[in-house]
Amino acid sequence: EVNAMRWNDLPAQVLHVLEKLERAGYEAALVGGCVRDRLMGRAPGDYDITTSASPEETQQVFADERVILTGLKHGTVTVLREGMPMEITSFRQDGEYTDMRRPDSVRFTRSLREDVIRRDFTMNALAWEQGKGLIDHTGGAEDIRRGLIRAVGDPNRRFTEDALRILRAVRFSAQLGFAIEKETERALFALHGNIGRIAAERVRVELEKLLPGKDAPRVLSQYRDILRPCIWGGEGISDGQWEQSARLVAALQPFSEGKHLLLWAAWLRPLGPEGAAQALRALKADNAAISGVQKRLEIAQGPMETMYQMRCLAGDCGAQAVRDAVLMRFAFAPEERERALGLLDTIARESLPCTLAELAIDGKDLLAIGVRGKAIGETLAQLLDRVRANCLKNEKNALLEAAKTCKK
Ligand code: ATP
Ligand code: MG
Repeated sequence: EVNAMRWNDLPAQVLHVLEKLERAGYEAALVGGCVRDRLMGRAPGDYDITTSASPEETQQVFADERVILTGLKHGTVTVLREGMPMEITSFRQDGEYTDMRRPDSVRFTRSLREDVIRRDFTMNALAWEQGKGLIDHTGGAEDIRRGLIRAVGDPNRRFTEDALRILRAVRFSAQLGFAIEKETERALFALHGNIGRIAAERVRVELEKLLPGKDAPRVLSQYRDILRPCIWGGEGISDGQWEQSARLVAALQPFSEGKHLLLWAAWLRPLGPEGAAQALRALKADNAAISGVQKRLEIAQGPMETMYQMRCLAGDCGAQAVRDAVLMRFAFAPEERERALGLLDTIARESLPCTLAELAIDGKDLLAIGVRGKAIGETLAQLLDRVRANCLKNEKNALLEAAKTCKK
């Protein structure tokens, strides 16, 4: 449903930038995701501005303001006002594509129309200009009203130019809950083999935006043949396992709180801990994400019933990882889930010690009673184990007394 359009409450910083460019004699418009989002009644993530001014001219217009010039090569000047970065990009026309990723050249143009028709989907090809209102050269507003993702122009040509658009279509479908228009969809299935030529991190970014999307479970299932090859080792995931993963993602989305690790773990679960780590490594994920997902899958495979097991896991892997593993393991068994989460809550509420750092003594205390060398670490480990098992109080004297009985 397209909500009543409200453009009169645009952020003051955005209006300032538009007006400043106009006063200097240039055309300036909001464009892309922010126009789409406002039309849908969603809060835009950021405001992109497109202008007839060349990058140099834009720079001159904002010479007295804070600007970031890192995007200059692509015709982008970023103005920073009151903590809000706004990307100002000069009207552009893309040149020929030969590598399926990036145009060989970009040409600046004075025409807004040329700038918007190079964009990927009709819903992203909308612009809004002060005084003129919505500018829609491709039927984007009607497609948004109908909930459709449609390539601008010939989808086969557009996806051949840039295969990332294929994944963008799929992730927008997950994020917005839109259907992909038939011709566009046919081109997706015909050309998705080219996704392999896209830089792995750009693929990962799209997948990461897809997973928390409200329609991610449907999209995972509907576009399985496009998404499975994006996963290293994915061909080893059977259709049945894939569907199970999609259901698991659906079940875990409400618990994921915008964090990716749990959803990645849910999706990649059929690959096992090591396989999932490999797949994320291939997607150039960072080490924290790789090991975090691997850990969650490992924990979810092992025993996690007793308080002792929970304290060991929480101490060794961190409470958040254990919590995620519980959510995954018992996604469809709410009673067991609540019981296991209850154990974790008790650990947190009563500050039950789980790690060496939490023990009431350390290596120095053992040295003082004559323990030496390797025995120090071994003794501490044995004491921690007894504390975790609730066989020993975490009090200095009790621990020192018990240290004497530890095997050395
Ligand atoms: P998001 O809410 O994810 O930021 P967005 O539509 O703003 O969505 P961006 O990646 O920020 O997406 O891109 C901004 C705009 O640039 C898009 O709305 C679209 O008009 C254009 N665009 C981005 N990537 C491409 C592409 N690969 N091919 C053509 N146009 C693109
Ligand atoms: Mg954006």
